[in-house]
Amino acid sequence: MVVAGTRLRNDIDEIMPGVIADRRHIHEHPELGFQEVETSRFVAERLQALGVEDIRTGIAKTGVTGLIRGTAPSNGPTKTVLLRADMDALPIREENEVDYRSVADGVMHACGHDGHTAMLLGVSRLLLDQRDRFAGTVKVLFQPAEELPPGGAKPMIEAGVLEDPKVDAAFGMHLAQEQPLGVIGVRAGATMAAADRFIVHIKGKGGHGARPQSTVDPIVVGAQIVVALQTIVGREVDPTKAAVVTVGAFQGGEAFNVIPDTAELRGTVRTFDPEVRQQIAERIQALVTGIATSMRAEATVEYRYGYPATVNDPEMAELVRAAAAEVVGPDRVIEPPQTMGAEDMSYFLEKVPGCYYIVGSRNPDKGLVWGHHHPRFDFDEEALANGIETLVTTTLRYLAD
Ligand SMILES: [Zn+2]
Ligand SMILES: [Zn+2]
Repeated sequence: MVVAGTRLRNDIDEIMPGVIADRRHIHEHPELGFQEVETSRFVAERLQALGVEDIRTGIAKTGVTGLIRGTAPSNGPTKTVLLRADMDALPIREENEVDYRSVADGVMHACGHDGHTAMLLGVSRLLLDQRDRFAGTVKVLFQPAEELPPGGAKPMIEAGVLEDPKVDAAFGMHLAQEQPLGVIGVRAGATMAAADRFIVHIKGKGGHGARPQSTVDPIVVGAQIVVALQTIVGREVDPTKAAVVTVGAFQGGEAFNVIPDTAELRGTVRTFDPEVRQQIAERIQALVTGIATSMRAEATVEYRYGYPATVNDPEMAELVRAAAAEVVGPDRVIEPPQTMGAEDMSYFLEKVPGCYYIVGSRNPDKGLVWGHHHPRFDFDEEALANGIETLVTTTLRYLAD
């Protein structure tokens, strides 16, 4: 059962002043990952006032969930759909001169998670108002610490948010300054990358810079390793599959005439394909130890897996695409390029089918052109209505199916 588009749009217009007020309140009081105490309290109070059931707080420190149960009759088993928003801000000092400017010095909602939280509160309100129009259950989820890997999604899943009731599908969205207001981006398959980190510890033998024969130079070993690591993507990974290996830090030595004892490399690996991810992790290990050994040094690799790739289920992506086409028109629904950035929505999408999509929010006419994580980041609040309408429509269609 699908709510007529015009009625939904009217309802959204009615609640938008409240959604914008919520967004500005959250923007004014940003909190860093796992410290979203006031934000989480604000969300829980809002959900309570709306009449959302089974509100649970303090999940993975500050996470919140609640249930909206449809009351429409159903002639079979019903489904549960999870809608997810992130609540955390960033350690950035805001440079915007707006009356909802951050009052927390050095902390800012510079990624749009204030908008995500406000949108999901708006979606909750609309779905509650219309619960006689659907059967099944909507679980709304507000998570901590998306910006702080290993993030808030994983511990929330470990705390059981995908059970009781068991979740069948998951949807979420991110405001996107790289797309103009009015555009919605949906991509089937891998849309954002897996992001891992590695640290290489090299142990040589220090000594006088003029007597290399009595040393094992960890800087020369490190240099060979840096070059060799670049051959993994260049020579070993299937060229049709995207991957990045970057060494972002190389530390060792203090003086021009001293060969140090040790050196350290740190880097990041980005991939879309789980097999390529595994291949690169293994090849880093093998190259590092092989090169070090062959050069009389010792080396170890600490490989830390970060967020997995964000992979949208093709059917769920099609559901969102159709809903978005109704909201903004088919010609304004685009397939955005894959990005090497990462997102912990990926953990939900590893467990259940779903879709993570983007909602264009840039508006040069209003000077809203700065990108995510910039001290002047701000988005066009009209985008919130597009996000809400797309998510409500998607949810109703999913549950009606
Ligand atoms: Zn961000
Ligand atoms: Zn973000």
